[in-house]
Amino acid sequence: MRPFSLGAPRFWRNARCDCRIRLPEMPFAYYSKLSAARQRIYRQSDAIEFLPLPGGIAAGAIVAALRSELAGDSRPGVQAASQRLIDALVRGYDVPPIRVRVLARRPVDGSGELHGLYEPDEARKPARITVWMRTAARRDVVAFKTFLRTLVHELCHHLDYEMYRLPETFHTDGFYKRESSLANALLREEAEAAVAKRSPA
Ligand SMILES: [Zn+2]
Repeated sequence: MRPFSLGAPRFWRNARCDCRIRLPEMPFAYYSKLSAARQRIYRQSDAIEFLPLPGGIAAGAIVAALRSELAGDSRPGVQAASQRLIDALVRGYDVPPIRVRVLARRPVDGSGELHGLYEPDEARKPARITVWMRTAARRDVVAFKTFLRTLVHELCHHLDYEMYRLPETFHTDGFYKRESSLANALLREEAEAAVAKRSPA
């Protein structure tokens, strides 16, 4: 894992983040190599450990729809449901919109398999998240929780810039805790929506 926003802070809008498999002992090794200013941003990110689900967005039904589209192996369906989920979340957090792109098979390069990609907004283009439906090696459809977590991971980069107003977005322990808390809240909403559907009041 590596930091992905390089260069002077005023160029941060041009940064791209390509997110790969997390190696448990690795993410923080780069901290000591950062400048004092960037270490400060890193510590700010690390200190925020919880990301609540915004109120009033009925996420459970959208998460359930996303799960069923992924199980049905429909790329357009997965893309539409992913966009609906991200639209609801960005509205809830009151941050600028994100365009979601779902592609077929994860790309691989010398650093491994790419899970997700976040590209901040530039000029008049909105920020973009790219996620892949299939693993590179076996071409299997990605497990639902992994897929959801990747979407949430990329959204967390957007929130670093747009909600927390951090000049850079780093993979910190706090970042992963925010990602987990939101992904788990979405899965809980899905489970609760399913119970409510089975036993209407
Ligand atoms: Zn990332």
